[in-house]
Amino acid sequence: MIVAGKKPFAEINEMVKDHKKIMIAGCGTCVAVCMAGGEKEVELLASQLRLARKKDGKEVEIVEATVTRQCDREYMEPILDQARECDAVISMACGVGIQYLSDLIEEIPMYPGVNTRFIGTNESEGVWLERCMMCGNCVLGETGGICPIAICAKGLLNGPCGGTNKGKCEVSPDKDCAWTLIYNRLEKQGKLDNIREIFPPKKYSLHVNPITQVNPAYQHAQMEEHHG
Ligand code: SF4
Ligand code: SF4
Repeated sequence: MIVAGKKPFAEINEMVKDHKKIMIAGCGTCVAVCMAGGEKEVELLASQLRLARKKDGKEVEIVEATVTRQCDREYMEPILDQARECDAVISMACGVGIQYLSDLIEEIPMYPGVNTRFIGTNESEGVWLERCMMCGNCVLGETGGICPIAICAKGLLNGPCGGTNKGKCEVSPDKDCAWTLIYNRLEKQGKLDNIREIFPPKKYSLHVNPITQVNPAYQHAQMEEHHG
């Protein structure tokens, strides 16, 4: 899932200080699970904004709207007209959802209500860990299912570095060394020979943003759309 954290209220309040009718748009998927931008957080932010305006003696109308996914047009359609009646939208989705909503209602100023951080797992209650940096050429099959790029502090494709110390990382001793984890996992799988394999440098030059992926079944239709 995509993990995001709430933006400080003072920052959001400052961004929208000149707007009088504001939609706060939540997203019911990743950001709801990591307690940053779901329905409850929308409700909380709306109350904070109303209170702050009241304290300043200023009027504000807040519209609360949480959809299942802000990165999917079909879920967005029902709230677009409502959003167009506002003079600003705070999106509580990840950076993808925020941009997509802004594309759909270009004329309305859009503000982020969260800081989007990484793709990761929910390790335990209230704790999320980054797991993948979307390198586009996954090596997990060789590394025992543990990502050296996301879990190693230096993103080393060939490790460990000389600083690994009793299974901990030299960059941050409270974190496990990714390459020790990989070694231990490969040992359990009887695949320790993998550790001798040297990975060639990744071709990051092939990773040109923004990346587009088209399912083969839709490629023909896309080409026709582009070439008329
Ligand atoms: S190697 Fe790591 S960063 Fe690359 S796709 Fe696999 S999990 Fe993601
Ligand atoms: S100690 Fe381990 S996790 Fe830390 S930078 Fe070196 S190889 Fe990576």
